[in-house]
Amino acid sequence: MNALTILSDGKWLPASSGETLEMIDPSDGREFARIARGTAVDIARAVNSARRAFEGHWSKVPGVERGRFLAKIAESIRVHAEELASLEARDTGKPLKQARVDVTVAARYFEFYAGAADKIHGEALPFLPEYQVIAIREPYGVTGHIIPWNYPLQMGARTMAATLAAGNTLVLKPAEEACLSIVRLAEIALAAGLPPDVLNLVTGLGEEAGAALAAHPDIDHVSFTGSPEVGTLVQQAAAKRNAGCTMELGGKSPQIVFADADVDAAVPIIVNAITQNAGQTCSAGSRLLIERRAYDSVVGAVVELFTKLRVGPALADLDCGPLISATQKKRVEGFLAKAAEDGIPALARAAFANDLPAGGFYVAPTLYGPVPQSNRLASEEVFGPVLSAIPFTDEAEAIRIGNATAYGLTAGVWTENGGRQLRVAKGLKCGQVFINNYGAGGGVELPFGGMKRSGYGREKGMEALQHLTTLKTIVVKHG
Ligand code: NAP
Ligand code: MG
Repeated sequence: MNALTILSDGKWLPASSGETLEMIDPSDGREFARIARGTAVDIARAVNSARRAFEGHWSKVPGVERGRFLAKIAESIRVHAEELASLEARDTGKPLKQARVDVTVAARYFEFYAGAADKIHGEALPFLPEYQVIAIREPYGVTGHIIPWNYPLQMGARTMAATLAAGNTLVLKPAEEACLSIVRLAEIALAAGLPPDVLNLVTGLGEEAGAALAAHPDIDHVSFTGSPEVGTLVQQAAAKRNAGCTMELGGKSPQIVFADADVDAAVPIIVNAITQNAGQTCSAGSRLLIERRAYDSVVGAVVELFTKLRVGPALADLDCGPLISATQKKRVEGFLAKAAEDGIPALARAAFANDLPAGGFYVAPTLYGPVPQSNRLASEEVFGPVLSAIPFTDEAEAIRIGNATAYGLTAGVWTENGGRQLRVAKGLKCGQVFINNYGAGGGVELPFGGMKRSGYGREKGMEALQHLTTLKTIVVKHG
């Protein structure tokens, strides 16, 4: 792939500065592609393109037709599934089978929002006797989207498809560490017939292109997925013009296992929820809360699966790939070193095969326990394949520990007791609770987003459309 990775006015362009950035394959640490290093100049051009597209034609396209464009994109993603999956695996380091799931989910987002585009409606409201009031949903106009590197295809698809269905045009800034699948997805969307100027894309660095997008005066709404720190910067930039935001900001999600749980069913899902994408999932189940009297047996079952995990290059398609970058590997290894220093017992660590490429960013999946509440492994987001086991005594303590971080994204609750399932679900302060299952990353139909430091607004499902449209109230006095 060359470095024509900026899409503006329906044309693929290099950065206006001519500069490029190297793309590193996390499986071996080698450069394998280059992207354009877009800056504020490229963002301004892309925003102008999106604005002209909105005012010029897209705002007049009825929902049913917007939906047809999206349906064609969904179909075309499926035709190019294998190509997209290998690109995603290579770019992010995730095992091929996980990238294949991402492609399927990306197609589902376009399919879901294709069906939703002509079902966005307001309401008629009761008011005084001689009046009729209607509240209609309108698109914002031009929306800005900043996504992270961990699930470029899924997150790109969910935010693009929803905003186009809502009737907006957009500018997307993917993460510099992994964005090739998004560039390819945009090509696929255009080839499938999407009017080329409604979708604009600028690759580049967060501090340059991302910051310029958040700060651009003509962006009407910003959807951001990433770290809480950068989320704050994006909100500050948007606040200067009082533009609204949707913030998806990570988590420290608990898996809460009671002694009556079906441990055989729970444990493989619990292990998957922290090793999928090498733990670099915002909704990773990174805390394992276990009722004290079942602690040894649950930990024993998790240890058994952890020690069997196979780590390797994305295209070897094992259980766990490398982390995204040398920086991320260093960050996660910092957590491991500090855990050793703090004397936290490592209960299991997956072994590396002898033939792992030397330059890859591999970190062995590791289980720690018992982790005291005061330790950072119990409260900070590691964003790596690191699971912290924490014992609890009763339901009240499970809820208290479950809520004892600054985050509130998702939670898993494992118990056969029906009353307890709902009491615990209601007691947890987070955006999604899974009972006897755990859907890290999945669920196109299900509103997704956080409470507390994990953010606000919702993506996915019909709910996302509420956050990508605005409401106009029309008051008619008919006498
Ligand atoms: P990040 O640094 O916050 O980056 C996210 C996005 O923001 C990237 O596109 C990044 O661009 C861009 N960015 C960086 N600095 C910016 C700035 N000053 N202004 C505007 N945009 C800027 O996050 P990350 O380290 O890449 O991703 C990991 C974090 O994201 C974790 O905390 C994780 O939990 C969270 N996350 C949350 C969700 C969710 O749905 N809630 C999903 C995935 C990840 P560059 O990368 O190109 O610099
Ligand atoms: Mg980054």
